[in-house]
Amino acid sequence: MTKKTETKGFYSSHSFKLVLVMVSCFLLNYFTFFINSNSNPWQLLYLIPMLIGAFLYNEKGSIIVALVIIFINSPILLQTPFKSSYQLSSFWLLRSFIYLLIAIILGFLSKSIKKLHTKLIEDKLKSNFSGFYNTTKLVRDLEELNEKKQSYDLVFFHIINLDELRKYLDSYVFSKLINNEFSRLEKEFDACRTYSYSSDQYILLIKDNNLDEKVICNLLIHKIHQFVKSNAFDKYPVKFQIKCGIINSYVDNNPKSLIEKVRVTSERGSLDESSIYVFDKTYYEKRQLYYEVSLTLNDAIHNDELYIVYQPIIDIKSKSICSCEALLRWNRGNGKKIAPNIFITVAEQTGLIVKVTKWLIRNTIKNQHNWKLKDASITQSINVSAKELIDDSFQNWFNNILNSNGMSHKDINIEITERVLSSNDERLKENLLLLQDLGCTIEIDDFGIGYNSLKLISTLPINVVKLDKFFIDRITENQTRILIKHLIEAIHELKGVVIAEGVENKQQLEILVQLGCDKIQGFYFSKPLDSEKFCSFCNNFNFSNYI
Ligand code: C2E
Ligand code: CA
Ligand code: CA
Repeated sequence: MTKKTETKGFYSSHSFKLVLVMVSCFLLNYFTFFINSNSNPWQLLYLIPMLIGAFLYNEKGSIIVALVIIFINSPILLQTPFKSSYQLSSFWLLRSFIYLLIAIILGFLSKSIKKLHTKLIEDKLKSNFSGFYNTTKLVRDLEELNEKKQSYDLVFFHIINLDELRKYLDSYVFSKLINNEFSRLEKEFDACRTYSYSSDQYILLIKDNNLDEKVICNLLIHKIHQFVKSNAFDKYPVKFQIKCGIINSYVDNNPKSLIEKVRVTSERGSLDESSIYVFDKTYYEKRQLYYEVSLTLNDAIHNDELYIVYQPIIDIKSKSICSCEALLRWNRGNGKKIAPNIFITVAEQTGLIVKVTKWLIRNTIKNQHNWKLKDASITQSINVSAKELIDDSFQNWFNNILNSNGMSHKDINIEITERVLSSNDERLKENLLLLQDLGCTIEIDDFGIGYNSLKLISTLPINVVKLDKFFIDRITENQTRILIKHLIEAIHELKGVVIAEGVENKQQLEILVQLGCDKIQGFYFSKPLDSEKFCSFCNNFNFSNYI
């Protein structure tokens, strides 16, 4: 122990406090005695050591202090230093009685205030949703363990089907069920306690265990399996769906950020399946990046950090560039680029995609005005999300911006993916038909890799199908080639056009030409280029250089 902590220990010890109270009694005694005030209001100052005594040791403290005061003010003392007369014993007795009475009252008052205070603190540390402690208490407990350099694990539980269960269970039954299940889990480990994070999220603190997180995982998987099939109430066979995360104290010694990390860990995996994951730094950093992106994307739109690149699309029959895909890029200054897959996903999830698409359309129209192309018929494909397509105000905005810039709907192709499918497919269909009537070409992107590709081409008004890179990568395999051949034939029969995406080499191009594919997009011809380079690529393009 260091000298500093030793000293601190002494100052908070009982002996030091007792000595302090006694010394203050004696000092007061001499003070009142010498200012000749044994019988005047200064006597009330004796209440101070009594109050301190009560504060420190309840009624025991205040009574002992009162007895000391009574003793040092006993009748054997002179009444004043200047008179040789003694106090009257009856006067001393009455005063002693009053001191004792005050001491007893102060002692009991102090005791009940302390009890109330402890209860208030306890209540503050208890969860509103269950009988468990809350995260404030958890943070305190973790701080204590960190101070003692004790290692521990945190397991985060998220009951993902809580809302479903609530339809059938009232909150009393539910919280009883939860309490039972966690009490069962607590018994699995020696030093273990449950804390409540929210009504459907709980944290298990496992102290002093030498088990590896993977071993805890396996142990828990077994237990959670029982948990999942829990049948705690005879009448209610309840099936919990739980997502779990585990973290060890060595990862972070800041309790709050450790709790956040284990919470994020529990979110891994698919949204609606029970799972259990150990903390993984790479996953956490990716999540942090998504979070950061969600905070800064809006500013990026205003600070001109976004820009557009264009990837040419080549028509095999005319051997020329027929269109291009406008793709967004984000340069965060200092050379740091964020991949479109990341920021577009965030924009789609946060709703910012509407603003992003409007920015792209405004700016790509501006760019197109500056293009000096030999072939003025080159059109642009833009990626549009469901949010926009089912929103009538977006449709009006889109029509207005084309009109006010002297552009025709024929200049723009709308690319939609399965991701854009919404709960309002009827509205989507109506609005796509409207755009198609005005002259836009409707393209289905990433065709073939989702669950609904066939449903999409059979129900929506589609002009172009963009075969996903997944198939092009495997085009040399017999099975895939046969599939692509028949897909192309079927789409042609439906009067559609096929674009192959992600063509990276001559062999893929040759097979696609052989299979009757209409158009090609891919690095083999060109990577996406900035506006200026795209123009010069188009003006110098010669198909015979590639085949
Ligand atoms: P996408 O719509 O499927 O765009 C095609 C992606 O494939 C582009 O990636 C393009 O660079 C890449 N690509 C094209 N040819 C090849 C190739 O031969 N090999 C390889 N390896 N890749 C190739 P990018 O630009 O990274 O965009 C990724 C995704 O981000 C896009 O996929 C699209 O879903 C989204 N995205 C990009 N810009 C926008 C936008 O303005 N709006 C919306 N809603 N989404 C966008
Ligand atoms: Ca696309
Ligand atoms: Ca695509």
